[in-house]
Amino acid sequence: MALLEILKYPDPRLRTVAKPVVEVTDELRQLIDAMLETMYAAPGIGLAATQVDFHEQLLVIDISEDKTTPLCFINPVILEQSGSFENDEGCLSVPEVYESVERSEQVRVKALDRNGKEFELEAEGLLAVCIQHEIDHLEGKLFVDYLSQLKRSWLKKKLSKARKRDVDPVSKTPSI
Ligand code: ZN
Repeated sequence: MALLEILKYPDPRLRTVAKPVVEVTDELRQLIDAMLETMYAAPGIGLAATQVDFHEQLLVIDISEDKTTPLCFINPVILEQSGSFENDEGCLSVPEVYESVERSEQVRVKALDRNGKEFELEAEGLLAVCIQHEIDHLEGKLFVDYLSQLKRSWLKKKLSKARKRDVDPVSKTPSI
């Protein structure tokens, strides 16, 4: 299966607000598989449909070390959130940038799985951060929006320089 193209900041399509999925079809399941493959190849631990220019509420996550625990959330809704967790975040749509963002430490989320069946999940730590980060994508938000204006303009300069040099530095922080 061909890998999908991941939109990169500041592509305006990343600001699109995703619509709910009306029906979970075979076609959608094929997209889920392509998104997982694209996420693993990137490599990343989460990918929202918005990032591959598909504007329906769909995201995939796998935070396991051996990439054997793929999670799929269709029409995800955060029911409860609590605590506070600050973590360096990276994003496949904002390459090379890793910045600390404050999120809720625990979330309870409701979604449909790849078979269209509703489920609820309680998550904490990295998984909770990942879910919040990806749901933001579906709402057209990016993690850099949480940074100060000054830092954002610094980032834009850094990104345009990096594109010119075409560098790909290695980081330990996973991108989501
Ligand atoms: Zn992201």
